Amino acid sequence: MIRTDWTMAEARAIHDLPFADLMHRAQALHRAHFDPTAIETASLLSIKTGGCPEDCGYCSQSAHHDTGVKATKLMDTAEVLAAARQAKAAGAQRFCMGAAWRSPKDRDMDKLCDMVRSVADLGLETCMTLGMLSPEQVARLKAAGLDFYNHNIDTSPDYYARIATTRTMADRLDTVEQVRKGGIKVCCGGILGMGEAEEDRIAMLVTLATLPAHPDSVPVNLWNEIEGVPVQVRAQAVDPFALVRIVALARILMPASVVRLSAGRTGMSDELQALCFLAGANSIFVGDQLLTTGNPAAWKDHDLLTRLGMRVAKARPQIAAPQA
Ligand code: SF4
Repeated sequence: MIRTDWTMAEARAIHDLPFADLMHRAQALHRAHFDPTAIETASLLSIKTGGCPEDCGYCSQSAHHDTGVKATKLMDTAEVLAAARQAKAAGAQRFCMGAAWRSPKDRDMDKLCDMVRSVADLGLETCMTLGMLSPEQVARLKAAGLDFYNHNIDTSPDYYARIATTRTMADRLDTVEQVRKGGIKVCCGGILGMGEAEEDRIAMLVTLATLPAHPDSVPVNLWNEIEGVPVQVRAQAVDPFALVRIVALARILMPASVVRLSAGRTGMSDELQALCFLAGANSIFVGDQLLTTGNPAAWKDHDLLTRLGMRVAKARPQIAAPQA
């Protein structure tokens, strides 16, 4: 059953189960909703890098932080298309295009819609992350054929003000709701290891699991070291079992959502990634680069999936009826 009325107490109790019980429960739900041997693959391209007016404390692309990332203009559709072709050839099913903006300018919308149409014509699923959107912008992207929109809440409502001050959690949730109401699938998750408490990680998942509808995709990112950003000084290593517990909790609270093991995989052992897949993670980014940080080489992912007897899903790996 898909529930959107989870309480913190319930989530905490699940999170704290003995590890074997937690994994068993996550596995049972994973198998009820998905083929556990199938992994969804997405590829990420920064279509407009750096110079962002937001002050997200973890982000190398914020103009508020001295990280050495150079601001670029919005890429041309032809360049984006060339990258999308490469991603498809490398095995990606979905192509995610990210721009470092507070929100897109209306003058950029024609080009963005053109990118969506062109990438979709290659037979790839399309995803964009562009910051806050107005209802009109959502409608235009939807009409262009955009499948997914990524807009992470990053952390818990309580910890959010320690992460960004130029926007609020309410702003984030408002865009997520606009996107959902506009008929675009929502991709929304967060980052572990930014100095937050365990309670914040659980609260982040409860926030997602109590939205009017669960996000279709839930990315779980591990903090990647980035010099020059405020989070770096309070970042803490995440215990591998703490990560697995959060993945399992995401699977249990949002059983029909695809859970993506996102940034931070370069620092994870094969064994830890395998545990995350057992706990319910069923999506990864492929390709050597995320927006500005590294990602495992394609051969490493291929090798890992082969050793685990897993395969890249031809389509969304869901086997049960989608969430109403
Ligand atoms: S809005 Fe996005 S690009 Fe801009 S600082 Fe925040 S995370 Fe970085």
